[in-house]
Amino acid sequence: MITVIGSINMDLVVKTAIYPKQGETVLGDLFTTVPGGKGANQAVAAARLGSAVGMIGAVGNDAFGIELLNNLTKEKILVEGVGKTNTATGIANILLHNNDNRIIVVPGANFKVDREMIDQNIELIKASKLIMLQLEIPVDTIDYVLDICGQLSIPVLLNPAPARNFKADWIHNVTYLTPNETECEEIFGSDYETVLKQYPHKVIVTLGGEGAAYFNGEEIIKIPCCKTNAVDTTGAGDTFNGAFAHAICGGKSIEESVHFANAAASISVEKFGAQGGMPQLSEVNERLK
Ligand code: ATP
Repeated sequence: MITVIGSINMDLVVKTAIYPKQGETVLGDLFTTVPGGKGANQAVAAARLGSAVGMIGAVGNDAFGIELLNNLTKEKILVEGVGKTNTATGIANILLHNNDNRIIVVPGANFKVDREMIDQNIELIKASKLIMLQLEIPVDTIDYVLDICGQLSIPVLLNPAPARNFKADWIHNVTYLTPNETECEEIFGSDYETVLKQYPHKVIVTLGGEGAAYFNGEEIIKIPCCKTNAVDTTGAGDTFNGAFAHAICGGKSIEESVHFANAAASISVEKFGAQGGMPQLSEVNERLK
């Protein structure tokens, strides 16, 4: 079992050719709602590949909450650990204008994922081969989960996004840290190759269309990803993380897991939407041939 402890959001996407000035109303071109949140996305990515996945998180007692729970259930994710709160379900308001996007995230119920909720789901955590975390729930909860996992010797994969919420001492408490290149520099204040050399077998940096890299104790291993026709890279990082978790829990080495995750993420960028492009296992195996 992989357990994801993280955010569950509804993405509210508005596409418009005209960007409104202050006080102005314009007619947009498209409105769509799509399930998102880094936690839910990474859970879906791992589940689609065939991993048994449980989710600990929170939604509101509202229509988005019901829809998002149904979506996770449809993806065969255990949702007993998802609490319903009186705070509204988290949303991301995404404004697409030409090639620019402006995003406002309102965490809502995601910030109700607290120590008590972790305690209520301790059996799920104990039954997990790997815990996956991102930084869209309260920092105090991350601290608590890392303490518990340390005591129980349960491996933790932390995807440090958004990076500004990262606390420096967490690096010692995680098994894997998976920043992208920008997050890596923001967290450690130096270029990613210097960082990798400090944390062998631990930090895995994703490099967009260039793939990903880690340090094996002797040299930096750069694993390029399959060249593809990318139409939307939203959720590429989430697919990478879910696929990496699936592979590492299946007994693959770090190098093999990065290779597998690159293949899965490269498929995800060929379709629109974060969860929309996440592949099934057969598609990844086909790409790896
Ligand atoms: P995002 O925030 O867009 O979800 P990210 O910034 O967290 O992604 P990236 O490093 O951009 O993470 O990408 C994650 C992985 O996705 C890469 O390691 C790679 O495997 C795959 N990927 C990203 N962009 C491309 C691309 N243009 N072509 C093929 N694969 C890609």
